[in-house]
Amino acid sequence: MYNPKSLKAEEFIDHEEVLASLAYGEAHKDDIPLIDSILEKAKLRKGLSHRDAAVLMACEIPEKVQEFYALAHQIKLDFYGNRIVMFAPLYLSNYCVNGCVYCPYHHQNKHIPRVKLTQEQVRDEVIALQDMGHKRLAIECGEDPVNNPIEYVLDCIKTIYSIKHKNGAIRRVNVNIAATTVENYRKLHEAGIGTYILFQETYHKESYEKLHPVGPKHNYAYHTEAMDRAMEGGIDDVGLGVLFGLELYRYEFVALLMHAEHLEAVHGVGPHTISVPRIKRADDIDPSAFDNGIDDDTFAKICALIRICVPYTGMIISTRESEAVRSRVIGLGVSQISGGSRTSVGGYAGYTPDERPHDTEQFDVSDQRSLDEVVCWLMEIGYIPSFCTACYREGRTGDRFMSLCKSGQIQNCCHPNALMTLKEFLVDYASDKTRRIGEKMIEDELKTIPNEKARAICAERIKLIEQGQRDFRF
Ligand code: SAM
Repeated sequence: MYNPKSLKAEEFIDHEEVLASLAYGEAHKDDIPLIDSILEKAKLRKGLSHRDAAVLMACEIPEKVQEFYALAHQIKLDFYGNRIVMFAPLYLSNYCVNGCVYCPYHHQNKHIPRVKLTQEQVRDEVIALQDMGHKRLAIECGEDPVNNPIEYVLDCIKTIYSIKHKNGAIRRVNVNIAATTVENYRKLHEAGIGTYILFQETYHKESYEKLHPVGPKHNYAYHTEAMDRAMEGGIDDVGLGVLFGLELYRYEFVALLMHAEHLEAVHGVGPHTISVPRIKRADDIDPSAFDNGIDDDTFAKICALIRICVPYTGMIISTRESEAVRSRVIGLGVSQISGGSRTSVGGYAGYTPDERPHDTEQFDVSDQRSLDEVVCWLMEIGYIPSFCTACYREGRTGDRFMSLCKSGQIQNCCHPNALMTLKEFLVDYASDKTRRIGEKMIEDELKTIPNEKARAICAERIKLIEQGQRDFRF
């Protein structure tokens, strides 16, 4: 029944294959020669199959686990260097017809206000986000064909891209909306979106159906096959994710990799990103009501193994996680983080950095620092915050992005782009302290661009940014 090339959810995420892989992992979790041979394979940086991954996930031998961590760290450095891409979520509307039992936007929740931003309000939110320094957004929306039809989402994207406030600009809009039709994905593609992100929530069909008792999201196959429709609609970059805490994490981990293998087998390109959200407290949601919560060590192991198993896939972590957890997993493979996030509808405009509206919040935010604080902290712990959006604007999406990764040209391309966009942030938005640390970092990091010509061009452009020019890219 298992067939990674099938377009049917229950065949490419075959339940029996997940169970067989977990049993294989359990049977070999202490098999050191096998574990060593899998680690040798992983060192080739071409990824691992879900079966091999299941063995590493089951393995609890401390020295071996330390080896995974060291390898994950090294792969992260080889492919992503010390850059961390920054983004923020923008909640458009919390109207929703679904009944997701873990989400406060579920339609039975009658005591939260339902809010949908007008285009004027979208404009205010975007100006507030630009004034923080953001260049990349992920738009979020409940599923409601009457209140949030695709035309509304498209209008919002158009508004977001149109706003140029002072030196600000949103240069990449990623979209996290419910599974939809090929025709609607085509419209999103034509609107110039970056990544289409859809969390699977859980790959376990029976649990999925219980956790989504009513509404269009109840349909497991329609949801699980969404990425195939998105790719058919022309979207090259898709982002997977599981909401950890709903089901057994080992099941989710294996199935997530099977999903990535399926996309590679059918479309020739794997997921652009993988997100690793964990359930958080929210209005009428108590995370302890779910039996499968994972501790921070398990979470770190998942991040490290994702890095090893799909080395070319970006990994995203949100402000659901605390500063301590974020700093740990950044070293193990996370390549993109949000900063200064508000998870309520209309949460940015009109509030001071310390004010935080809670009434329409989708979940509690653990990392409540401002974007400037997150940027400063990243640099203090040795990472370059990058506001780069060059790849998709240069047409480097899907397999073209993967080729850039594989060719090793990232250091001559992404690295200078990170420095130039960081420079924009420092000049336009940073506090004195952040600026001081950032200028020193740029000076040091410029020297590490291997190609002499790229290094000279980058240095020249950084001077031009100081003089007022913007939006350079390799
Ligand atoms: N409504 C769309 C959908 O169904 O895919 C858009 C996504 S929703 C705005 C973003 C994501 O937030 C969901 O896919 C879910 O994984 C996550 N989420 C929902 N409730 C959450 C909670 N209590 N804690 C953490 N994440 C949550």
